[in-house]
Parts: sequence; C-alpha cells; structure tokens
Amino acid sequence: ERVDNPYEGAQVYVNPEWSANAAAEPGGDRIADQPTGVWLDRIAAINGANGKMSLREHLDEALTQKGSGELVFQVVIYNLPGRDCAALASNGELGPTEIDRYKTEYIDPIAEILSDPKYAGLRIVTTVEIDSLPNLVTNVSPRATATENCDVMKANGNYTKGVGYALNKLGDAPNVYNYVDAGHHGWLGWDDNFGPSAELFRQAANAEGATVADVHGFIANTANYSALKEDNFSIDDNVAGKSVRESAWVSWNRYVDELSYAQALRNELVSIGFDSDIGMLIDTSRNGWGGTERPTGPGATTSVDTYVDGGRYDRRFNTGNWCNQAGAGLGERPQASPEAGIDAYVWMKPPGESDGSSEAIDNDEGKGFDRMCDPTYTGNPRNNDNMSGALGDAPVSGHWFSAQFQELMKNAYPPL
Ligand code: BGC
Repeated sequence: ERVDNPYEGAQVYVNPEWSANAAAEPGGDRIADQPTGVWLDRIAAINGANGKMSLREHLDEALTQKGSGELVFQVVIYNLPGRDCAALASNGELGPTEIDRYKTEYIDPIAEILSDPKYAGLRIVTTVEIDSLPNLVTNVSPRATATENCDVMKANGNYTKGVGYALNKLGDAPNVYNYVDAGHHGWLGWDDNFGPSAELFRQAANAEGATVADVHGFIANTANYSALKEDNFSIDDNVAGKSVRESAWVSWNRYVDELSYAQALRNELVSIGFDSDIGMLIDTSRNGWGGTERPTGPGATTSVDTYVDGGRYDRRFNTGNWCNQAGAGLGERPQASPEAGIDAYVWMKPPGESDGSSEAIDNDEGKGFDRMCDPTYTGNPRNNDNMSGALGDAPVSGHWFSAQFQELMKNAYPPL
C-alpha cells in the first residue's frame, strides 16, 4: 500500500559517496548530511561502475539509515536510448534504436532489485528519465529549436516506449513511487509547450503496459536552475502599460517560477486523467540565486524590462541556459510538504556534480561536448542566442566540480 506522500514523516537517504565529496570541501560539512539522488546513468552503475557503490549496496545502506523509522530512497532512472537528444553533454551509452537493451539490460535488472522483499520497507522514489519527453515537444521539427536527434527519437517512439516500460516495470513493486520528469517553467511554461507536454506524459503513462496508476507524481526543475519563487514580480503585474508577460525575460511565458508552474501543471495533469492525488517534487538543489547579487526588492517601474530584470532572482541570460550556471546557489533545503500539491523539495541533482565539460574531454561514458557548457559560446535557438552563462574549467557531466560546489554554497538561498 502506497502512502499519499512518501516524504511525509520519513527521512531521506543520504548518499555516502556524494556526502564524502561534499564533506571533503572546505565548508562542505554544512550540507554533507543532506539527501541527494542516486543516479543510475548507465547499465554498469547498477552493479557499481568505476568502484562506485552498486544499487544493492545503496539499498543496504538505506536500510541501515532507516533504522526503525521510515526512509525515502531516491533513485534517478536515466539511460534512455538516444539520451539527451537536444544536447551533447549527457548523451548516453545506448544508441537511438537500442530500446531492447534499455528494457532487458537496464530496467529489468533495476526492477528486480527494487522488488526484492528485503527492501520492501523502504519508500523508493524513482524519477523517470530527465529531459526526455519535453524534448519531443519543444526540440522537434518544424520548430527552429529542432535537433536531428530529437526528430529521430520522436519518430521512433523509443522515449515514450522506454518511459512507459520503466513506469510499468518499476511500478510493479508496491513500495516504488514513480515521479516522471516534467521539465521546468522556463522550458514548458509557454502555451505551445504546456498542454502538449501534459498530453505526451499521458501517452507515455499509457505505453508499454503502464497506466496512470503507475505514476505517483512528477518532478520539476531537475538539474535545472529556475527560481522557486520570484517574490519581486508576478505574472499578473502590469508596469508602464504593459504586462510582465511582455518583458524580454518572461517573453509570454505563463509562469515566472517553479512553484507556480508545478502547481499549475499538477492541475492540468489531473484534468487530463492523472490521479487526483498526484504530488509534485521540485529540485531545489541549485536554484537558490542568493549571494550579494540577489535583488532585495522589485526593479524600477520605468518599463516591464527594468521592473523584471531589476527584481528577478534568476540571473541567467536566458532560462534556456542549463549548464553549470555562474552565479547560482543552493536552493531550499530538502523538505516534505512545503506547499500545496508539492510532496517535497528535493536535491535530485547532487550539487557539485558538473552538467557538462566546458571543453571537449575524452571519456568512456558516451558523454559529448556541448557548447552550452562553454562560457564563450554565444548560443543557439534553444537559448534564444544568448551567452551560455556556464562556468569555465568544468569536468565531464556527473564528475565532481569543486569550484561550482564552492560557488553554490557561497550563493545559497536560504543562506547556509
Ligand atoms: C550526468 C550523469 C550524472 C548526473 C548527476 C548528469 O548530467 O549525465 O552522468 O550522474 O548528471 O550528476
């Protein structure tokens, strides 16, 4: 029997490997006991790649941390065929057509481990396939933002099939709580993207034997930087005769922050057939935007642009920027039931782990080099031709990036 909100009344698993990296940093002990997601980002991660803990070792450690109380174990399912089709930094090991390997070599073994009766007392939260389905809405032809790989993944259906298969198989265990990735407001908040994304989520939740009952909720802002709450302006504000929606920053989006987006998306999803009890997670690991540059009040009312730009916490050049953002800080600490409809604020992306290398670096993980991680890059249609805003000297995605970790602590909001 699943509970309504698995985070309620439960501790959340502290990944000892991330914790050790954090604790080894000057000042890192302030956050080293925070829970972060365990990413299964390749088949070998299931049994422990490169000397790292296997899934079973994590689950055994989770039983120890649990003691006699309740504990949530957070695992990220991230290995679709043709992964990360609109970018290169997190391309994976499976080619676009390798859906059968995804099923038999990745999902099936994970499902078998998670359903081991030994782990039946854990509340296992899966976040399913970050950045996949939204790409099929926004980064496909005939849009200017299309990429060849996303067109391929849309045409062959392997993202939708893979997500459906994962939900169905993982959802067989009564203590598994599936949360599907739902992008973030600065990606799916526009009318052209919002409804169609919800529709696609429904389609995936009905693919490959899955049903909406396999979906416990959705997660917004995973590994992204969108602010939780923009207190200094709201979507309904008008300034100098114009709506905030007309500002260059908002650019006709319906949402200005993650909380309003996640709550609205929840309503939309329920209205199209998802369970009325679904809950949302918001990844707040790196969306704090504190530090000395944080605005202390609204911008000047000279124009909507001065108003929004002077007041916004999110200091990216554009919300399409996603790689190792300069100026970002740790966001809200993980917590259960922070707002209506929100099951938890979580740190699914482990702070201090890179989003991608700032120049090409050879690796055996299938990771490419994406210029969105290069601080000198002047952009593409997906970030409206803005500078990338990325930090320099970054390692390959998933690898420890000490300088970023230090900056995230420095710019934490709430401050540490
Ligand atoms: C990387 C993964 C990594 C994850 C968490 C992703 O961007 O591609 O390899 O596990 O971030 O840091």
